[in-house]
Amino acid sequence: MSGANGGGGVVVLLGSPGVGKGTQGVRLGRDLGWAHVSTGDLLRAALTAGTPLGLEARKYMDVGELVPDDVIVDLVREHLAAMSADRGVVFDGFPRTVPQAEALDDVLAGAGREVDRVCLLEAPEEVLVKRISGRRSSPGGRVYNIYFDPPRKDGFCDETDEPLIHRADDHPDTVRTRLAVYQEATAPLIGYYGAKELLARVDGEGDIEQVYASLRAAVGEPATPSRASG
Ligand code: AMP
Repeated sequence: MSGANGGGGVVVLLGSPGVGKGTQGVRLGRDLGWAHVSTGDLLRAALTAGTPLGLEARKYMDVGELVPDDVIVDLVREHLAAMSADRGVVFDGFPRTVPQAEALDDVLAGAGREVDRVCLLEAPEEVLVKRISGRRSSPGGRVYNIYFDPPRKDGFCDETDEPLIHRADDHPDTVRTRLAVYQEATAPLIGYYGAKELLARVDGEGDIEQVYASLRAAVGEPATPSRASG
């Protein structure tokens, strides 16, 4: 793909909530030297900053529904406009609907780019539910899981002893809504990108290292002719 030539590729991480897109996406972006763009992170930052966009988005996020497409597309467009035009990008949690995918194609086309590869991370639903509902994070961003990677003292960070936070949208009822929303609104992207021959399936059930190795292999396989912009 184009990124392998030093220019910036565009990779989309697709998959259900809890499948590990965030963990894997941060690492992939860091290793490739590309931007990791998570719309969930951008929305949470807007929320923490108390911007009108953040407050509007919260209504949807807290109940596990999707923020409207036009809000998300504007957010991504602005974020990309502020970046160097040929920097590689790993998208995480975007696009989440077919209209968002079409808008992404348009935005990229305007810059002479396109999506190079879509990695679909997959894991059984019971694994997803435990991964999400067990997630706890420290204010500093260290993430634990009460089932798979618990802190030494229940509810407190090993490093700072600060109380751990349970994201409002990680509570069990909201998790079920998020999984249903994924099936209804986001899973159609499998067909959308499959038809464009961009899709690579990645087994997301193993440990972080195993999944990362599979993801790297999927990203590295050439999907489209190189279009590095230099
Ligand atoms: P995430 O951290 O990716 O699981 O996103 C958390 C929440 O932010 C989601 O449940 C949605 O409410 C909202 N969100 C994040 N990305 C998008 C998107 N691309 N489209 C719509 N809503 C989104």
